[in-house]
Amino acid sequence: MINLELPKKLRASANQAHQVASQIFRPISRKYDLGEHEYPVELDTMAAMVDGLSDSGTQKISGASGGRSDDEAPTTDVLLNANGGNMSALLNALETSWGDVGLMLSIPYQGLGNAAIAAVATDEQLERFGKVWASMAITEPSFGSDSAAVTTTAVLDGDEWVLNGEKIFVTAGQRSTHIVVWASVDRKLGRAAIKSFVVPRDAPGLSVARLEHKLGIKASDTAVLLLQDCRIPKDNILGSPEVNVEKGFAGVMQTFDNTRPMVAAMAIGVTRAALEELRAILTDAGIEISYDTPVNNQHAAAAEFLRMEADYESAYLLALRAAWMADNKKPNSLEASMSKAKAGRTGTDVTLKSVELAGAVGYSQRLLLEKWGRDSKILDIFEGTQQIQQLIVARRVLGKTSAELK
Ligand SMILES: Cc1cc2nc3c(=O)[nH]c(=O)nc-3n(C[C@H](O)[C@H](O)[C@H](O)COP(=O)(O)OP(=O)(O)OC[C@H]3O[C@@H](n4cnc5c(N)ncnc54)[C@H](O)[C@@H]3O)c2cc1C
Repeated sequence: MINLELPKKLRASANQAHQVASQIFRPISRKYDLGEHEYPVELDTMAAMVDGLSDSGTQKISGASGGRSDDEAPTTDVLLNANGGNMSALLNALETSWGDVGLMLSIPYQGLGNAAIAAVATDEQLERFGKVWASMAITEPSFGSDSAAVTTTAVLDGDEWVLNGEKIFVTAGQRSTHIVVWASVDRKLGRAAIKSFVVPRDAPGLSVARLEHKLGIKASDTAVLLLQDCRIPKDNILGSPEVNVEKGFAGVMQTFDNTRPMVAAMAIGVTRAALEELRAILTDAGIEISYDTPVNNQHAAAAEFLRMEADYESAYLLALRAAWMADNKKPNSLEASMSKAKAGRTGTDVTLKSVELAGAVGYSQRLLLEKWGRDSKILDIFEGTQQIQQLIVARRVLGKTSAELK
């Protein structure tokens, strides 16, 4: 029998993240939406807390730092299933995004690059990069969705890699202490030569060209980075430096198996926030949401609410499955993409529909609904757009290669 209850340990850590979200994030949510690019100093206190907690060996509060498939995995007592780093990171990301997803993306030491490191690093590298705040730089001016089109180069020169290229739209690209950069070690060999490199913030030749102004997640800094003869140590390449043409770029792509469920969790967190707000508004307006009466006999707004809540539940369960598979060492590329597609779509649908059903107050800045409508859109874009996730799902289901189905 499937047991959908969260184990006690995970419930406790999710509750802790929820407290952070409601007591630290929500009160400052509007402030940093209006003050784009202002550094959320309140998060420094949180970083100290996170540090203290991980030093003491208790649960991490938040973010995407988990995801190591061989993390020490607490087992549930029923079926000996593992619930490790992916599951706890997913729940924490969900809860903190319920508070504010822009702030969640700005939590020190919890960047998407951390999940990338966890997915691909050797044990020695994991030890060395265990306490960094890593952003992730894949996108370039010449491409976004087609991650095989990387033009940034990495050339080995003695004991150092020399990187050259431009990376755009890097989340936490200014604030993070390290950046995981995708670059080609030999452009003649195509996608198989794309590797990821950990670039420290103070590496010579690395600079921030500018920050982007955006529709939403304004608390999060999105940077353009320049790598101009940027030198990093030889052993900062993640995974093997060998180019295996047979294997393609499966190595770096593995990152997405961990990060996509995490982004799905962010969308699910924002979705839940909007549903809770909408429920309160509808209840105030005297509209009853019933689980006993057929939807066609209920108020139209209540029927919409129930439809959206069902989407929320399915997005949540798909994300849990993807993370659970990662923790249990099961290949999960299909499920990771399914969960991100469903959650990304649900996030934008539910937040904007909630604005609509709330009427003028939903559109005003008196509530956070309009902000969530803006914030949620990015979750259906980065780490692979809606269309790209559907393409991946179609390829997997139909057994087609990327050359056969574009
Ligand atoms: C706020 C923000 C933060 C970001 N953070 C990061 C980050 O931290 N690191 C990073 O590397 N990148 C980041 N990105 C970049 C993001 O990942 C890309 O924007 C995304 O991958 C889409 O790429 P693109 O913008 O070039 O769009 P394109 O690839 O040009 O796509 C444009 C449209 O065409 C669709 N499309 C493309 N190919 C196909 C296809 N084969 N079939 C059907 N439809 C298709 C897409 O779905 C999209 O709707 C960020 C972007 C933003 C806006």
